[in-house]
Formats: sequence, C-alpha cells, structure tokens
Amino acid sequence: MLGGFLLLLLLSPEDGDDTFNRAKLMNIGYAEALKEYDYDCFVFSDVDIIPMDDRNPYKCFSQPRHLSVSMDKFGFKLPYNQYFGGVSALSKEQFLEINGFPNNYWGWGGEDDDIFNRLSSRGMSISRPDGEVGKCRMIRHERDKLNDPNPQRFDRIQRTRLTINTDGISSLKYKVVKVEKDALFTKITVDVGKP
Ligand code: BGC
Repeated sequence: MLGGFLLLLLLSPEDGDDTFNRAKLMNIGYAEALKEYDYDCFVFSDVDIIPMDDRNPYKCFSQPRHLSVSMDKFGFKLPYNQYFGGVSALSKEQFLEINGFPNNYWGWGGEDDDIFNRLSSRGMSISRPDGEVGKCRMIRHERDKLNDPNPQRFDRIQRTRLTINTDGISSLKYKVVKVEKDALFTKITVDVGKP
C-alpha cells in the first residue's frame, strides 16, 4: 500500500435528461474529493458492482489496479486482456501521470479502453488479483436511458495518444448541482454538460 487515505467513488447515472459520461464523472469525483481532503488513493467503482471475496483489498498498488477481474456477467472471466472496466484503483500520482480520464466519451463504452491506453502509453502495467479473489457480481438492470452505445468509441480509442495531454483532468469543466452529506457517504449531483 502506498499509505495515506483512500476514497471509494461510486458512479451512478440516475439524475437528469442528458447523455451519461462515466469517465467524466470519475474525473469529477476525483476533483470533488480533493476539495475535502488530500486523498492519495482513489477507488473508482460502478455503483452496480459488488465484490464477492473479501481478500480483494480496495486499495492502491505500485501499478494501477483493476479489481473487478471476474464478473458474473462475463462468466467470471476477464473478457479481454486490456479490459479495465468496472472497479479500478489509482493513486493520485498514477491518475495525474495520465492526465486523469477522458471527458469526451458520451454514452456507453470505450472510456475504460481509453484509460487502459493512457496507462500503457505512460509505461504503466495493470495489477490484478487472481480470478478467484477478483470475483464480483453486477446487480442486474436494464441499460439506463441516454446511455446508448457510443458509435464514436472505436475512433476515439485509436487516438488516445493524441488526446491524452489536452483532454483529461486538466480540461475538466462541470457544475455541482447538489451536495448531500450522510454519515457514511457524500452524494454529489453534478451537471456533466452535453456532448
Ligand atoms: C467496450 C468497453 C466495455 C467492454 C465490456 C468494450 O467493447 O469498449 O467499454 O467495458 O466492451 O463490456
């Protein structure tokens, strides 16, 4: 462990009438968390993923960590070697090294592949638990409205090396709509803007 404090960010697309943008929400979670405390480890989790094995620590490692390696929806297997979706943990240093995540993947798909490309283009490798420890379930649900597959994702993931320096945490723009503080979590509603 790198030491210090970590933060678990849960992402959920429940508010508003505009297109979902997962990677931008993760950037926003990172930025909002740092307004509260100088965290040095961030665990980014889709709200519908539940780990099944408590030997899978939600913490940062010397390389970026992919935690949801065997999901029920993929038959408890990694769907492909470069897969980085679901739940991941990055130290602040690792996150800043890749200029955070892309802001311009609107709708479903590709943003996690872009993040993988960012990490590998900066010479990092992915750390993972083994397939047994990394088992997790996804809560079954319909695809959220306004989260249709993004037809631009195939082009975008070919261009990560061209966009990494200009699109990311350094170019993040959004509006906070509401902040609700609970004893155990803070729910932040944001306007991510439009494509
Ligand atoms: C998409 C990813 C997605 C993966 C698994 C890929 O084709 O680009 O965003 O996580 O499929 O569903």
